[in-house]
Amino acid sequence: MTNPIYFMSHLLYNLSIMILKVDTHSHTVASCHAYSTLKENAQEAYEKGLEALVISDHGPAVQGAAPGYILSGALAFVPDYVEGVRLVKGVEANIIDYEGGMDIKDKYFACTEFAIAALHTVCIRDGGVMENTDALLGALQNPYVDVIAHSGNPQFPIDIDAYLDEVERQNKLVEINNQSFVFRAGSEGNCKEIIRQCKRRGIRLTVASDSHFCKNIGEFGHAVRAIEECGFPEELIVSSTKEKFLAYLEERKRRCSGFEV
Ligand SMILES: [Zn+2]
Ligand SMILES: [Zn+2]
Repeated sequence: MTNPIYFMSHLLYNLSIMILKVDTHSHTVASCHAYSTLKENAQEAYEKGLEALVISDHGPAVQGAAPGYILSGALAFVPDYVEGVRLVKGVEANIIDYEGGMDIKDKYFACTEFAIAALHTVCIRDGGVMENTDALLGALQNPYVDVIAHSGNPQFPIDIDAYLDEVERQNKLVEINNQSFVFRAGSEGNCKEIIRQCKRRGIRLTVASDSHFCKNIGEFGHAVRAIEECGFPEELIVSSTKEKFLAYLEERKRRCSGFEV
């Protein structure tokens, strides 16, 4: 249930900003370089009026991240709802080669409800446009992978057309990551180009805080401003309401159901 005081203040301070009810990318202390517990994140999500939050701690190739929580199937210990917020069991897998190989095996991906894949400098070097793009295409071809994180990151330049061709072919999602506008210098132009192309192609977006501290949960301001500047239609944002996002998760279940692990 939405905290009415926060909801009203949020409205007053963000009059021009669309309200999104799902945060599709967040980290807890299980990532080892994030600073809040799942309970703190869920509490923050409640206070900000969110309806659902994806837990997406890093795969083990990030130093210190030892996701025993997923390797042992322990995500099943997490209740579906905390503080009335639907907790979606996910992971942020690291892409570790230029074919799109990742540090999460399919049998563990099968324990997730939502899976993000990403290139991180601590796990793989920039291979140049062709190799980086191949890495993303390979990851997208895994049926469990729903979305690539922070694909506008200039530290890993890509062929945006080829990347979005594959997203379209696989009927997957594109993430607009709020942290990219803060911590990944030079991302903004790429992100806006990606948003404009998604609008033209009818590709669906998710919007994510990529929170590493609870106060960042549900913070989408930079991403939403970019989306609004590009005139991207809210109906194509699958994370705008819990109902839309849960409907996407059902679509994902159908996509993965025929896949043997
Ligand atoms: Zn990441
Ligand atoms: Zn992340």
